[in-house]
Amino acid sequence: MHPTTSETLTLLVEITRSLHDERPLAVRLQTLFTLLRTTADYRDARLTCWGQAYSAQEQFFSSEDRAIPWDDALMMRIAQNSQAEQRGPDSRGIVYFGAPVRWVDQTWGVFEIRFDDYFPTHVQELALAIIPQLAAAIANEQHRQQHASIIIHSNASVIADPHLSEPQALLLTALGRQLDAPLNLNSLLPLLLRWALDTTRAEAGAICLVDHRHGELVTQVYEGYFVTPDLQNHGRPRWSWNVGLAGQVARSGRAMLVRDITQDPSTRVSGTGIRAELASPISEGGQTLAVLVLDSPRPAAFGESELAFVTALCDRAAQPLRRALVYQESLENSTQLEQVFTGLPTGLALLDVNGYVLRANPSWGQIWGLPIQESRTPFHVPLDLIDALLPRLNEPMHITEFCARGQQSLDEEHTTAIRLKNPTQELRVLSLPSRDSQGVLTGRLWVVSDVTREREVDRLKDEFVSIVSHELRTPLTSILGYTELLLAREFDPADRRQFVQTVYDQATHLSVLVEDLLGISRLDAGKVKLNRWVVAPRQIITELTNQLNAQIERHRVVIRMGESLPPVYIDRDKVKQILFNLLTNAIKYSPEGGEIELRVHDADKGKDLPPDHPRGRWIVISVRDQGIGISREDLERIWKRFYRVDNTNTRRIGGTGLGLSITRSLVELHGGRIWAESKLGEGSVFTFTLPFATDAIVRE
Ligand code: ADP
Repeated sequence: MHPTTSETLTLLVEITRSLHDERPLAVRLQTLFTLLRTTADYRDARLTCWGQAYSAQEQFFSSEDRAIPWDDALMMRIAQNSQAEQRGPDSRGIVYFGAPVRWVDQTWGVFEIRFDDYFPTHVQELALAIIPQLAAAIANEQHRQQHASIIIHSNASVIADPHLSEPQALLLTALGRQLDAPLNLNSLLPLLLRWALDTTRAEAGAICLVDHRHGELVTQVYEGYFVTPDLQNHGRPRWSWNVGLAGQVARSGRAMLVRDITQDPSTRVSGTGIRAELASPISEGGQTLAVLVLDSPRPAAFGESELAFVTALCDRAAQPLRRALVYQESLENSTQLEQVFTGLPTGLALLDVNGYVLRANPSWGQIWGLPIQESRTPFHVPLDLIDALLPRLNEPMHITEFCARGQQSLDEEHTTAIRLKNPTQELRVLSLPSRDSQGVLTGRLWVVSDVTREREVDRLKDEFVSIVSHELRTPLTSILGYTELLLAREFDPADRRQFVQTVYDQATHLSVLVEDLLGISRLDAGKVKLNRWVVAPRQIITELTNQLNAQIERHRVVIRMGESLPPVYIDRDKVKQILFNLLTNAIKYSPEGGEIELRVHDADKGKDLPPDHPRGRWIVISVRDQGIGISREDLERIWKRFYRVDNTNTRRIGGTGLGLSITRSLVELHGGRIWAESKLGEGSVFTFTLPFATDAIVRE
């Protein structure tokens, strides 16, 4: 049953209304297809439209049935001839009707509709009545898009793009060839940007790489930005791709154009004073590698033609950019490796199969102590290295054998220790097979590390363990021996008292040792803090000599103190510990009856101080003895931890080698210095300084 004329007209009114409402064109067309179905059960319909705004690409709108493909060639013919066509039914029983969407002398698209077997006349009439409405809807859509400022293009290929003029196409071919030349990013990108600026007459522009991992854009090159503190302050500014037109382009992979930013304030552009912005992706293999952005302070500075050219230029630049990125990445990799190679404190050298150095890092020469020019000339390890080291080698044959072993069994790993003298040095050498990128043996990699300090630490540790165990064992043995005796038998009171005294002395010794060890570890950990007071030096000396009374009774102790000594600003207990250590050493290392002099005086305007002593006013305290003395070489070493002068006297006397090291740290915590002078067999003087109270407080 055919609808009546008035029903058809009512439908036409409804279609007309829905074609011109506020909804997006695609939605409005969908309504058109639905309304048409209320009057005739057509198979499917489609509208293909283009106009100025849809320049490069047609837009297709179709009803849902896509089972039978449309004939695009037929549709194009209808558009070109501006003639409606009707066909069928064909072998599949399909009846086809297509009509150009035309107004005066412009074709906006083609409307097509297909039926099974039969094309109702009222639909034909309706279709012809709708066509001017469709032209109006498309024209309006185009107008609206232009004024909304954003036009979205696909990456139309250069040839097919009608907006690429002939001179533009020629220019592009010429530029394209030049784009193939630069290998690295720093040459390619400025070139590309310059052309884009020149050809579009844009005032500013930038190329940003797309960091897909972080969702960011990284500015690589820019030119002519108006006021851009961001760009001036940072070498390569990054920003999130959620911001601005360039970000939108990076995410969508489609070129975009903003004709006038003031019409669309939501778009954030790259600088101030910008009115028009054009951004195009540089994509390869479906991935956006970079975005080229062009800006101008002139509204509508860019149009279809600029957009088409820049898009085509970016297409052409994609391959060269990919190549430059790969090159850049390998360049960065090798720069990073080079930095690691040169910065390593371990000596590294790549040797060829004959033992010549192909490449070595600076530490290689430094560790062996080779002159710089030596490591630059062709250097043959088995001969030249041995030659350079010969005077210092403890076992010259050892290194020769090591080199020979490496050359005989090229694919094995070897390691050895090489000991050198003057100065003493121990090096650990690891020799590994080296291979090229195909895995073929190319020689060896020598890895040389200086392990002198590690060995020294090991030695000191062993020495420490043996000293400490000896020091602990000796007093413990006598404590155990005497207590066993006391438990086993009764002794007369005088003997018993003497035994208990010995036990007490040995226990005191043990306690000093433990205190010293704890002191050292606290000093190391930086936990020792001074509790400073203004104190008269005389007071400290009196307190200390009272404590030491028992120990100094076998020596003559002379105290010389200036009359009017100013107060010092010190930690009383720590200074007592310093003096206690020096006085007990003087007692320990000098014969009975020897004189020990304790002298305290004003530094007399620095005259009595060593040249490198800090400035200011100082009290000088010295402890002089007439004991065994210290040799010149040992004078340097006695300050080291656990260092004990090794001779029969010191072995007999016993000690930990910790006292002076602790003493020095305590003096230096006060800001003072300590030093020693001595002559073997004649005696020693240990001198240290403490700050005047006024000076020290001011300094704090
Ligand atoms: P310790 O006395 O426990 O061995 P120190 O650190 O106090 O440890 O002294 C280190 C070394 O310096 C001593 O072993 C000793 O050889 C030497 N020494 C220190 N003071 C004197 C001194 N007054 N006379 C001679 N030698 C000394």
